[in-house]
Amino acid sequence: MRTIRNRIFSFFSFRGIIYTVLLAAISFTPLNAQDNNDNDLIKNLLQTADIVNETILELTALSDDDENAIGKELDKQITQEVKITKERKFNIKRIFNKLMKYVERTNLNYNYKVVKTDEVNAYAIAGGYMYINTGILDFLDTEDEIAFVIAHEISHNELRHCIKRVQYAALASSVDPNFGEIVQIAYNIYSMPFSKYDEFEADENGVKILLKAGYDKAGAVSFFEKLEELEKEYGVDDRDAVNDFISSHPTAKERRDRVINMY
Ligand SMILES: [Zn+2]
Repeated sequence: MRTIRNRIFSFFSFRGIIYTVLLAAISFTPLNAQDNNDNDLIKNLLQTADIVNETILELTALSDDDENAIGKELDKQITQEVKITKERKFNIKRIFNKLMKYVERTNLNYNYKVVKTDEVNAYAIAGGYMYINTGILDFLDTEDEIAFVIAHEISHNELRHCIKRVQYAALASSVDPNFGEIVQIAYNIYSMPFSKYDEFEADENGVKILLKAGYDKAGAVSFFEKLEELEKEYGVDDRDAVNDFISSHPTAKERRDRVINMY
């Protein structure tokens, strides 16, 4: 998979510039002493990544085929660690297919798996792969709600959020990674939270897809209202890892208010 390496690192003569921009982005985030290790640095970077110049990402962009290849390898690792189960309560296949008619990145390998765990969560990785926990299926009541959750996860790939964070992390790594190492980098960061701006953007695009597919925006609103109750019950501070929805950045209330004000 030399092509991936070449595409990412054809820009390597400008590595110094990239570092300067990345470090400028990181400096917007207060880093304390114990945060000073690689993983925390990357985590902070992902939270502030929106500030990074988009031009760098365009110059180091991966093809859809490369992205699918990364997703496929990462999916192999994830599925070894979680228990995949049959869908229940909702006809997810039908909902997924309805939403799929409105995706723009038609070359991506969009697909989903249902994961048996009580955690109220769903998440997406590069290449269009999505994981929907049974915990979130049990938590939701209407088809509009689960359709919004799926549309939100689709949107993280439609908007290239998943692959961009792999690009950021690969560029910030201290070695020139080969394909296997890029997959490892993707594995290291897949459970880290997206930035607040990425979440808002995925919500907004998710609502657009939801409406096009004939679902009701009320599903997004009631989902965030339920999530707000869950946040009160559990708190948000320690739950930002491996959770795309329960987070202090942004809170369910902020996201609900934005969705209400759309259209
Ligand atoms: Zn999200």
